[in-house]
Amino acid sequence: MYRIYSEAGLSDDVVRLGEAAEEALADRFREIDRTAEYNQMKVLLAMQKNRVSEACFAPSTGYGYNDLGRDTLERVYADTFHTEAALVRPQLACGTHALAVALFAMVRPGDTVLSPVGRPYDTLEEVIGIRESSGSLKEWGVGYKQVELLPDGGFDYDAIREALTADVKLVEIQRSKGYLPRKTFSPAEIGALIRFIKGIRPDVCCMVDNCYGEFVCREEPSDFGADLVVGSLIKNPGGGLAPAGGYICGTKACVDACAYRLTAPGLGQEVGANFGLMPSLYQGFFLAPTVTASALKTALFAAYIYEKLGFPTVPPCEEPRYDIIQAVVLGSGEAMLAFAKGIQAAAPVDSYVTPLPWDMPGYEDPVVMAAGAFVSGSSIELSADGPMRAPYAIYFQGGLTWFHGKYGILKSVQSLSDAGIAELPRT
Ligand SMILES: *Cc1c(COP(=O)(O)O)cnc(C)c1O
Repeated sequence: MYRIYSEAGLSDDVVRLGEAAEEALADRFREIDRTAEYNQMKVLLAMQKNRVSEACFAPSTGYGYNDLGRDTLERVYADTFHTEAALVRPQLACGTHALAVALFAMVRPGDTVLSPVGRPYDTLEEVIGIRESSGSLKEWGVGYKQVELLPDGGFDYDAIREALTADVKLVEIQRSKGYLPRKTFSPAEIGALIRFIKGIRPDVCCMVDNCYGEFVCREEPSDFGADLVVGSLIKNPGGGLAPAGGYICGTKACVDACAYRLTAPGLGQEVGANFGLMPSLYQGFFLAPTVTASALKTALFAAYIYEKLGFPTVPPCEEPRYDIIQAVVLGSGEAMLAFAKGIQAAAPVDSYVTPLPWDMPGYEDPVVMAAGAFVSGSSIELSADGPMRAPYAIYFQGGLTWFHGKYGILKSVQSLSDAGIAELPRT
């Protein structure tokens, strides 16, 4: 191992650091594997129940009427998430698009969207109109308000009760931290929040931005009363194989509304060709539990090592995980670039390029991004990114295989060490 890792540019000290971390994390890794085993069965049983067959893999074109593969896949998602219905489509261009479709489907002019968990993910600011943007909900006369989280990261129930005025029609709950160094909420915690909200306003739609959370736990937010759960297929549920797409799972009424918004009133879920993507969407979903487990192990491994090197991490290594994102507060732009350089150098694709910050559409600050992915922009593949702003935290996620994740993290450590930013523990 030392020989091949040396060939891959890792010093013996870095490899030793990795070996020690892996040993220390053995019990946690076993726990992750048990969750993957459970979720594997969940997906498998949903596929068997819905009689997935070779006929489901046939391509469709044009309108895509009576598309067996598409309709069956949506049943498989609905059964896995324990919802009445699901919309799983390559026509949902990304997670932001899926969330925008759900938001526009569920509110009308004069209504208000409430985020009870503070500021939403960067790209949603333009969807909502928090940042001025053409075509935003704000332009359509939809209001927005948010309740900040308490200093300890918990929900501010008093302020939420007050914010639930009659005009609030949709509550947007983001599970994952996104680009904020806050905590990620477990499905059960989200469930408690939904119970509280429904206790005051049973008619309000509770939508969960589930990005990066799928298959991390045995339950999903839909097991705890969410009306809609929404996410991206180039994150966890695509298993690395889905080339594009998004999903919206939820009650039949809510999913119908989303379908009429995605295609057209009157058409809804009946149209939408699959363009021959069915094999990768099915197989990706089948692999998603174990791929998510690899990403989780990578995140835990990174937290352990970067804490040893003296960097603050969110979440800290010992805390339970509810998404696959690991943030490391590196403290400077230079350190962010060195980290990104290491991740990039470890990639199977584009390993020879150097990541530089750029003005990414939808984001306010320049973002540095390391990704050498088979699917462009896929963040279930090992990738690191972060806005170049204080506290200079890099957020990384993914790893289709644990061994690649491990190498990527070690390569980032090597890069920080070579740049004189991190000092390796003496061995
Ligand atoms: C990634 C992400 C999104 C947006 O997904 P895209 O596919 O990048 O558009 C939304 N919310 C959260 C929390 C995310 O992590």
